[in-house]
Amino acid sequence: MKAEGKDVVGFGAGEPDFPTPEHIKQAGIEAIENNQTKYTPAAGLMDLRKAACYRLKEDCGLDYEPTQIVVASGAKHSVYIALMALCNPGDEVVIAAPYWVSYSEMVKQAGAVPVIVAATEEADFKITAEQLDAAITDNTKVFMLNSPSNPTGMVYTRAELEAIAEVCCRRNVYVIADEIYCNLVYDNNEFVSFASLSEDAKNRTILVNGVSKSYAMTGWRIGYSASNPALAKVMANYLSHSTSAPSTISQHAAITALTGPQEDMQVMKEAFEKRRDHLVERMNRIEGVSCIKPEGAFYVMMNMTGFIGKTMYGKVIESAEDFSQLFLEKGLVATVPCTAFAAPGFVRWSYATSLTEIDKGLDRLEVFIKNA
Ligand code: PMP
Repeated sequence: MKAEGKDVVGFGAGEPDFPTPEHIKQAGIEAIENNQTKYTPAAGLMDLRKAACYRLKEDCGLDYEPTQIVVASGAKHSVYIALMALCNPGDEVVIAAPYWVSYSEMVKQAGAVPVIVAATEEADFKITAEQLDAAITDNTKVFMLNSPSNPTGMVYTRAELEAIAEVCCRRNVYVIADEIYCNLVYDNNEFVSFASLSEDAKNRTILVNGVSKSYAMTGWRIGYSASNPALAKVMANYLSHSTSAPSTISQHAAITALTGPQEDMQVMKEAFEKRRDHLVERMNRIEGVSCIKPEGAFYVMMNMTGFIGKTMYGKVIESAEDFSQLFLEKGLVATVPCTAFAAPGFVRWSYATSLTEIDKGLDRLEVFIKNA
């Protein structure tokens, strides 16, 4: 629609709208100029693996050896190789829903079976340890945890994670902890890394992180995992025989991101927090929709269940897809229906966009609903 010249406002993007900070870009440029353009070891440059250890210590209080770090082409790739390393055909992987849509697809690609455990809006979109316990069978290999979460923006507390860790340890289940949004936690809430809970939890955790969201580096494609040495070895082998290491130039830029000044990240975080506050406050003043206040990441789950079964613009709204599609066509606003995230009745807005665009989107939502 944009290509047709239509003035569409986009809230679909799962990436910061900020450019990569200048000093990180310069590190990439210098890598090219210094001919850092050859292969690196499959698990990544030793200096980058050390940089990841440094960051994990600073941000999460975790101690890892560089050999436990495996660098991959984005956090998504890290999740994928973790699943490939862990899962045999028929294994079950429990996913807390609403969940990031790629998880279930990656589980299936690994030959395993996704088992979805749903959390409601009333439960702040977080599952309980009891729910997890009930979903685990003899075939369960992995529990997928994502906190702060895409799409819900919710953050598990220390107590909630401790209860979940107790279940995972008792039932002997691995945990893939996708902590890509760890730096985007608001209101001075605490971010707790799952591996920091106990030695047993750490040994069974494949911690996934990366530079995409924290440093506005989505296009550079650098993620990493931290795990026990045996698993790290398998994941490195997997890389060695598939993609090899990610771009050497990106790896050099990522070293600078992880070890250099962190101020740009703070500035971005403060901007996201302001936008969240504004979006949530205004959205809850619009008749017919509502949202709970997310605690992290940059997504808001708009509850539009009130429109299900109603007629808008001559069309019966049967799903979040119908609502999003109509909102795009009539309101010129792009959002993401959450049916694919196992949250029917919700539409995800990403606030990784300016306050001006947020206001424009909300103005249009008001008109869209009023004129329906
Ligand atoms: N995990 C989650 C929960 C995400 O939302 C995303 C990006 N949408 C990723 C991983 C992927 O990150 P990367 O760009 O580093 O592959």
